[in-house]
Amino acid sequence: MTHNGKIPLLDLVAQHEALEDELTSVFKSALVTAGFIGGPLVEGFEREFAQFCGAEYCIGVGSGTDALRFALIAAGIQPGETVVTVPNTFIATVEAISQAGARTEFVDVDERTCNMDPDRLQHYLETRCSFDAQSRRLISRKCGTPVAAIVPVHLYGQMAEMDPILELAERYNLMVIEDACQAHGAEYFSPKDNRWRKAGSVGRAGAFSFYPGKNLGACGEAGAVTTNDAELAQKVRMLRDHGQAQKYYHEFEGYNGRLDALQAGILRVKLRHLPDWNQKRRDLAARYNELLASSPNGLTLPYEPTWSRGVYHLYVVRTENRDALREHLAAAGIATGIHYPIPLHLQNAYRSLGYQGGDFPVAEKAAREVLSLPLYPELIPVQQRRVAAEVTEFIHKTHSQSVF
Ligand SMILES: *Cc1c(COP(=O)(O)O)cnc(C)c1O
Repeated sequence: MTHNGKIPLLDLVAQHEALEDELTSVFKSALVTAGFIGGPLVEGFEREFAQFCGAEYCIGVGSGTDALRFALIAAGIQPGETVVTVPNTFIATVEAISQAGARTEFVDVDERTCNMDPDRLQHYLETRCSFDAQSRRLISRKCGTPVAAIVPVHLYGQMAEMDPILELAERYNLMVIEDACQAHGAEYFSPKDNRWRKAGSVGRAGAFSFYPGKNLGACGEAGAVTTNDAELAQKVRMLRDHGQAQKYYHEFEGYNGRLDALQAGILRVKLRHLPDWNQKRRDLAARYNELLASSPNGLTLPYEPTWSRGVYHLYVVRTENRDALREHLAAAGIATGIHYPIPLHLQNAYRSLGYQGGDFPVAEKAAREVLSLPLYPELIPVQQRRVAAEVTEFIHKTHSQSVF
């Protein structure tokens, strides 16, 4: 707890205090070698993170947004094509699609997980698209453009239901790029493969963010692409570095999107703790579930299907009285978050996509109801009990009022 008794949504300071010696020694060794870009720290991190994800390759880049953009371009998305994703995500998912030259179309999400709903995806592909026999491609009726890829977002640290998504992708010859920016270490049990599969190892490529507040966070901006495809990996390596594999020999126009060595060194230190931190998040989520179980009326707790092992990037409850609950908690010194208040199809930035309110009712309802409670590995039991007690008190109060 901070000195003033306030409980933050997340606390990065506690983590850094515990690791201070290791983290400062990374900085000292970078100063001595003056190796700030590329080099052994970056390569070491890439090796270790690929292994962590169960992917063949990892390419460190400047941010999660870079990772998404480079993954899409390297996968071969062409300007003018359509990419399908969900409306309840951080804007970077769609920015990356636009910046790869493609156009976004949305499908609504599953009521309980807030992740891409395979049935709605199938419905979209079957009723909103038509098969063009000549090009052998699926064409979006709305835009008249070929559909090229699906970007499921593993929201809040829980993977989307991947087998049916992969099956649809295969049937319609589409690529799958995972937005794994909130899902470092999350797992999905694939009935088809009869084994657990990790985020970032399932699609053609996966994109990760190491923004400071993510489960694995840098001390600055950082991201990574994971893939099992050697060619795609090489293309991302070149895209992040001005389209060159050899200095000043540019095969194509790329970007300045490299992972810097300091962040790579910091991430290597933190990666060793990630399995433990993820387990702590899971335990805290299970404890919240217990503590909040007594106020089921009017409060919906996170849903974890049996095929999912989430890493609880966020612990998200739902209530129709979300804004009032948020104010009640704020008055008690408890910070909360809303991920996210306005679905992307209703953002001013995407007016040109031509959607309107009511197009994605599940995502729109979620935007009105979701509330992220404080959750981070260092959250202590007394804090957590206080959060739960305040939530329970509010729900009981408002529920008994509504009875009269
Ligand atoms: C954080 C995040 C991103 C973007 O990552 P940055 O590192 O901030 O660029 C993309 N998608 C989702 C779902 C995210 O949570």
